[in-house]
Amino acid sequence: MFRGNMKKSGMDRRIYMDYAATTPVHPEVVKAMQPYFTDVFGNPSSIHSFGREAKEAVEQARDRVAALIGAKSEEIVFTGSGTEANNFAIKGIAYASVQGISRGRSGNHIITSAIEHHAVIEPCKFLETQGFEITYLQVDKYGLVDPENVRKAITDKTILVSIMHANNEIGTIEPIAEIGKICREKGVYFHTDAVQTAGHIPVDINELQVDLLSMSAHKLYGPKGVGALYIRKGTRMVSFIHGGEQEHNRRASTENVPGIVGFGKAAEIAKREMSDEAEKLRVLRDRLISGILENIERTRLNGHPVNRLPNNVNVSIEYVEGESVLLNLDLAGIAASTGSACSSASLEPSHVLLATGLPPEIARTGLRFTLGRYTTMDEVEYVLKVLPKIIKRLREMSPIYRRK
Ligand code: PLP
Repeated sequence: MFRGNMKKSGMDRRIYMDYAATTPVHPEVVKAMQPYFTDVFGNPSSIHSFGREAKEAVEQARDRVAALIGAKSEEIVFTGSGTEANNFAIKGIAYASVQGISRGRSGNHIITSAIEHHAVIEPCKFLETQGFEITYLQVDKYGLVDPENVRKAITDKTILVSIMHANNEIGTIEPIAEIGKICREKGVYFHTDAVQTAGHIPVDINELQVDLLSMSAHKLYGPKGVGALYIRKGTRMVSFIHGGEQEHNRRASTENVPGIVGFGKAAEIAKREMSDEAEKLRVLRDRLISGILENIERTRLNGHPVNRLPNNVNVSIEYVEGESVLLNLDLAGIAASTGSACSSASLEPSHVLLATGLPPEIARTGLRFTLGRYTTMDEVEYVLKVLPKIIKRLREMSPIYRRK
């Protein structure tokens, strides 16, 4: 059972509002995975019946993940994470160009945005050390990439555009279909990091006109350590992990069979339940946003007011550091975040909030609540009761606030 809502000794209750960092594994997913640890333990590459059984399960999962995004099964490659899928997409296309095997154009220029997850920014930075040129497109105050800026940035050396589907910190949903259309017109490969959207809002690779798309199981109630990269048929790229011939020779290593089975089950459930879930979450999200903005002075919503993920609330509360609020919320049993889970140990202001034009002192006040399957209105009301008291106390201790 999910423990987020359970009473715990010493704490009245625990409330989990960090679903963008990770989600609990759905009970049906756990059940689907279980036999693949013990009874059906074969290596999918083995030709005997044990191997064949495992292989069948992997292929069924591939069908399910493909169905979630409107792809063909053979276009899905399982990876060890969303991070790996992003690295594979970016480096795979880059090195295909170096080796002269890419279809159509070759070059050394990649376009991405200033608000990507580190799992896109860091591989791009690495490629800069290898002679590639990267354009980091700026965004507007809502975190939106302007498709016309993508068009203007494309040169005859551009081999790849990589723009995320929705931002993990501020929840802004990018105009991917429009960008996809431009990339197709120009004959440039287009990758999107859909780690925060797949399984949460509709994702269709043909509508979005993408050639590559990254996903991660643990963001959609599947297990950690499993991801997938959609690779449109005909895309020429270099393999990222060398070894055996698994995954149609695209990604060597023995498959994580239970993890892949879990991913498949999670994708199947998400396809079935996504739209009802999103509807429920929008109501909770909007109540939380309006409750914070109305009851705490000098707050602002970060991200787009309408084009945002159904579960994302990101606010800046002036005169209090996000970190201090987080610690106090944690003491009250509420789990939130300042932004990305991977950078939450860093005291640097969020690169995403800075890119939306916030000055560093405000970018440090970002606070993210991401809601999910087990969030209730009662929990939202509880946060709205506790948060203003925490802010009041912290502001009273702040010399800058007192001087204002
Ligand atoms: N991309 C985005 C937008 C994410 O939010 C995350 C995880 O936070 C990742 C990539 C990395 O995925 P994984 O945790 O599976 O490596």
